[in-house]
This record gives sequence, structure tokens and C-alpha cells, in this order.
Amino acid sequence: EAKKEGAGKIKVFRQWMLDKLQESRTLEHDMALALVNKEFVVYYQPIVDSFSQEIYSYEALIRWIHPLKGLLSPDSFIPVAEKTGMINEMGKLVLEMACREAASWVIPAKISVNVSPVQLSSKAFAGIVLSILNETGLPAERLELEVTESSLFTESNTPMNTLNTLRALGVNISIDDFGTGYSSLSRLSRLAFDKIKIDKSFVQSISTQEDALNIIRLITGMAKSLNMKAVAEGVETQEQLESLKLLGCDFTQGYLFGKPQPYIDGKIRYG
Ligand code: C2E
Ligand code: MG
Ligand code: MG
Ligand code: MG
Repeated sequence: EAKKEGAGKIKVFRQWMLDKLQESRTLEHDMALALVNKEFVVYYQPIVDSFSQEIYSYEALIRWIHPLKGLLSPDSFIPVAEKTGMINEMGKLVLEMACREAASWVIPAKISVNVSPVQLSSKAFAGIVLSILNETGLPAERLELEVTESSLFTESNTPMNTLNTLRALGVNISIDDFGTGYSSLSRLSRLAFDKIKIDKSFVQSISTQEDALNIIRLITGMAKSLNMKAVAEGVETQEQLESLKLLGCDFTQGYLFGKPQPYIDGKIRYG
């Protein structure tokens, strides 16, 4: 009996594994086509000064307009892009589109672009960024790169060297989703980032969990003593904003100020 049941479970599991494999294979195949067919677009979401509420930057967030599945969000395809290495080409595309877009704005807001650990581990990355700045005419000071803690969780010196090189040229560096990974504090201070982005999971439990409030206080305090700015992501309510201001959080991003949109100032732009 038990043996039969076990065999049944294995069969179900096997089918599930095969389905998953098939799914990622078609995603991989579709993605290669999508890069050629230019199905990727960039949405923009404002990051504002918490106190003056002036727009400080726009974060570029990739979307895939899939011919059959419609609008896909990055969480559904970035992991596959990273596993296959296609993130390198995809990331370059986003950087190009975002820098070209920002270079056309009348307001001198920055553009914040997410960079995968895979991209940062490539020695070619700094050169790619520089040639895109050259081509688009965007001053380095207006570009901000968002990297995650895991980018630096490696033996290799390449990510750190790359970030330091770019930073010396005027590019800002933010550490994204802070608090969810395993940053080594010594690495953090050695690199001297410009900003720390507090993960939205903390922001969204500000009013319900005292721990969250304390963690945010800790991060903003740490940012200050390391000479960095603190940014909160995922801010949806006025109440959250007020708490963040009390904690001295310099910049804020979230639905309260605007959702990611394919346009700036009412003009739709598809790269
Ligand atoms: P992230 O960089 O931490 O971006 C913030 C995410 O939070 C975005 O999700 C944004 O839409 C969402 N968000 C912003 N404000 C709010 C809010 O008030 N409430 C809620 N519930 N969510 C909010 P999105 O656009 O789905 O992107 C997810 C993640 O995908 C990003 O997280 C980033 O890690 C990654 N990603 C996006 N674009 C790129 C890209 O071009 N390259 C790479 N490597 N990763 C990207
Ligand atoms: Mg980000
Ligand atoms: Mg983030
Ligand atoms: Mg995040």
C-alpha cells in the first residue's frame, strides 16, 4: 500500500519537474526571440525627496510585452535571464533605453538602473556603461546603479573594482533591497556606496511590527554614519511617509508618489 502510494508521489513529482523544465525552456526560447524582436520596454517610477517631495530620480524597471502572455513583470523572467546569461544583453538594453530617455528630459533628474550580480561579475561591464554614457550623452552624474547585497557576496574583486571605477567617474551607486541579504559591514564601508535602499518588506510593516521600525531606524542611522543617504521603497501610505520622515529617511519611492509607468510627463515611450 505505502509503497504504491510512494510510487504515485514520485510519478507526480517527476511530472512536475518535467513541466518546470519545459516551462523554463520555452521561456528561455521566447526570451532569445524577444531580445531580437524588441519586446522589452522600460517603465519609470519616481523617487522623491521625502521632505520637499521634489523628484530626485526615476527608477527604470523592465517589463516584457510577451506576444501571447501579455505584460510580464521582471520577477517572472529575470531569474531565467540570469541563469542563461541573457541578462547581460537584456541589462545592456535597459541601460541604453534608460540613459537615452533620461538624456532627453528637461529636468535634470537622475535615472536609476538595476544591475544584476551576473552583469557585475563581468570585467566588461564598466566599459559597457561608459560607452553607453558616451553614445547617449548622459552625464555620469545623472546615472545611478542599483546593486544588491549578493553582488558583493563573492570572492572575486571584480564587482567592487567595477563599482569603484564607475563611482570615481561620478556614477552613483545604491545598494538595493537592503536588509534582506547578507552584507558584510566591512565591505559596505570599504566600498562607500552613495545610498542604501531599505527593502519594502520593512516599510510595509512599519505600523504593525515594532521590529520593522527598529530595523529602519538602525539602517538610517547606519547610512548617516557611513555618509550615505537612506531611501525607502514600497511607500504606499501617508502614515508610512510620516514615520520615515521622523526616522530621517532622505528619499522615498512607492505607489504613494506614483506607480511604474511607461511614460514620463504624459508621453509614452517605448525605448
Ligand atoms: P526593485 O529594484 O527592488 O524595484 C522595486 C519593486 O517594487 C518594483 O517591482 C516596483 O514596481 C515595486 N514597487 C514600487 N513601489 C511599490 C509600492 O508602493 N508597493 C508595492 N507593492 N510595490 C512597489 P518590479 O517592477 O516588479 O521589479 C521587481 C524587481 O525586478 C526589482 O526590484 C529588481 O530587482 C528587478 N528588476 C527590475 N528591472 C530590472 C532590470 O532592468 N534589471 C535587473 N537586473 N533587475 C530588474
Ligand atoms: Mg531597484
Ligand atoms: Mg529595491
Ligand atoms: Mg525589491
